[in-house]
Formats: sequence, structure tokens, C-alpha cells
Amino acid sequence: MFVVLRAGCTPEERNRVVRAVEDAGLSVQVSEGHHRIVIGIVGDEDRLRDVALDSFPGVEKVVPLRRPYRLAARETRAGDTVIDVDGVEIGGPNLTIIAGPCAVEHEEVVFAAARAAKKAGAHLLRGGAFKPRTTPYHFRGLGEKGLRLLAHAGAEVGLPIVTEAMDTRHVDLIARHAALIQIGTRNMQNFPLLEAAAKTGRPILLKRGRAATVTEWLCAAEYILNAGNGQVILCERGLVSFDNAVRNHLDLSCVPLIRRLSHLPIIVDPSHGTGRENLVPAMARAAIAAGAHGVMLEMHPEPERALSDAGQAIRPEELEALIPDLSAIHDVLRRSSYSIV
Ligand code: PEP
Ligand code: MN
Repeated sequence: MFVVLRAGCTPEERNRVVRAVEDAGLSVQVSEGHHRIVIGIVGDEDRLRDVALDSFPGVEKVVPLRRPYRLAARETRAGDTVIDVDGVEIGGPNLTIIAGPCAVEHEEVVFAAARAAKKAGAHLLRGGAFKPRTTPYHFRGLGEKGLRLLAHAGAEVGLPIVTEAMDTRHVDLIARHAALIQIGTRNMQNFPLLEAAAKTGRPILLKRGRAATVTEWLCAAEYILNAGNGQVILCERGLVSFDNAVRNHLDLSCVPLIRRLSHLPIIVDPSHGTGRENLVPAMARAAIAAGAHGVMLEMHPEPERALSDAGQAIRPEELEALIPDLSAIHDVLRRSSYSIV
């Protein structure tokens, strides 16, 4: 449940509510906006059965949450969560572009990709060092060596890096190099991995499971929040579908839905979401128009030579042409009087 305090309530009134909840053995997350204060309550709510919070002075209403996630729910915060990823703010009014190759491959490729991402105006550099592949016989990434290469390339051009963690044994190593830890679609419900990644204190990019409902996705985010790490960025990357005309079915309707259900930032990955480079720019534009806080794009200096996901990588010049469009669409939304939330 969460408690909404009346506008202009006093600090004493607020503290009385917090104390009553904590005395009952539960914890609170207080969120202060310009117009109201919301107190999210976490723990066994049965213990509050005999505490009439709605009659406390200063309380406007007590709202029960019927959803299985609480900390991720929009109602438990007064505004949008904005996450600082090594100086890049993701969420709220910001537009974030993440770009880079699917996998970290040869040194010259990753450095060329980093320079191209920077030149085009991207804010973060992506690249997989530990790659989840459907068959063990395909290129599975360079591991720690790839992580170091990506970190050097990012440092050279001044872009923070994001890379995937697949294994609890690697999260600390990845956290030492990466500004943002990606949890891939196959691991969305790998709860020990979510908790281990959360414990590093790094922001987490949580991709939606390829067959996960929105509720399951937000529950996965809840695991990270509940482990004490409030820095979760959601990433829609397409769902399995009966139709193999595209690699995955990119669910853009989940973008405005998530914006309503949660305060967490949401970005879209149209590369895995379509699997086809010639569909990526259109779906990136559509993602921003739908209210996404950013996009993650696979970009390769020479896609035909890419060791993984060659068919969905756009070229540096395509990225350069696309980013101004995304900014223009984002500006339209910012000026619009229509509120997505
Ligand atoms: C990736 O972004 O490199 C990746 C493997 O994505 P997903 O987990 O969405 O398939
Ligand atoms: Mn890929």
C-alpha cells in the first residue's frame, strides 16, 4: 500500500506516519514531489491491520496496491525516476541513445564503433563481452578481454559503457568496468542474477523476457529494487511471435503502458525487436513517439563482417542520420500538452 499526504502537511505529521509504519516492522520509501508526498510501504501489510493510517493528521488517503510489485509502481513515487549513469541522465525529460556493436570483436572494430557512436551523438557505448548464444558453436564473446576493450574504447571517446552480465560470478568484474549492467532477455527471471547485479550498486538495464508479460517484467524489476538498488531502466526488445516475418515482435504498446504503471525509465531496442537493419530506423522513431526515454541500437562499422547479429546492425552514417530525427520527435513530445502519464 502507499500513503498520500495532504499538500502542505507538516514534517511532524509526515514523521508520525513513518514512525507508525516502522514501529510495526515495515519499511518506507518516501518520495517528495512538488505537489505531494507519497509514502510507499514495503513489508507484511497485515501488521498494519490495527493502525488506522487514514485517520492520521496530514493523510489524504491510503491506497492498497493489488499488484504484485510495489516499489516499481508509479504510485509509490511522486514523479519519474531519473537515473544517473556516469553523468548521463536517463529518464524524465532526457532522450538517451545507446549505440554500439552486438558483440565486442576485434580491437579496431570496437574502437571504430566507439568513435562512430560518439560522432553521431550517442550517449552510451554498448557491446557484449559475455554473449548469450542460442547454439554453443557461435561466437560467444571475448569475455574479460572484451570487457576491457570496450572500457578502453568508451574511455577514449568519453562514453560510459553498457554490457551484459549472464552469470553471478561475473557481476563484480563487470561492475568495475561498466557504468550500466545489462540483464538480457534470457535472464530476466534469473532472480539470483538480478539480486547479485543489484548488490553491485550499479544501475541495471533490465531487458524484457522474450515471452514475459508486463507484470512479470515489473516483478523482475521489483527484485532489483527490493535488493536495495533503485536504479533500474527497463528495455523492451521484442517478443516471440507466431509470425517469423521479423525476428521478434516489438511491443511498442508496452511503452505508454509502462509509463503509466511505473516511474522507472523505459527504453526500446529495435535491433533485436525487428532483427532487420532496414526496419530499425522506423521503429526507433516510433519508440520515441510512443514515449520511450531512449533507444538502444546495434551499430557496426562494417555490418557484413559482424560476428553476431550482422543482419540487424545499422551503419555509422545511418545512426548519424537517425539521431536528429529522434531528437526532433522527442522535442515534439516534450512540447505537447498531452500527458502520457
Ligand atoms: C544484446 O543486447 O546484446 C542481447 C543479447 O539482447 P537480448 O538479451 O535482448 O537478446
Ligand atoms: Mn545482438
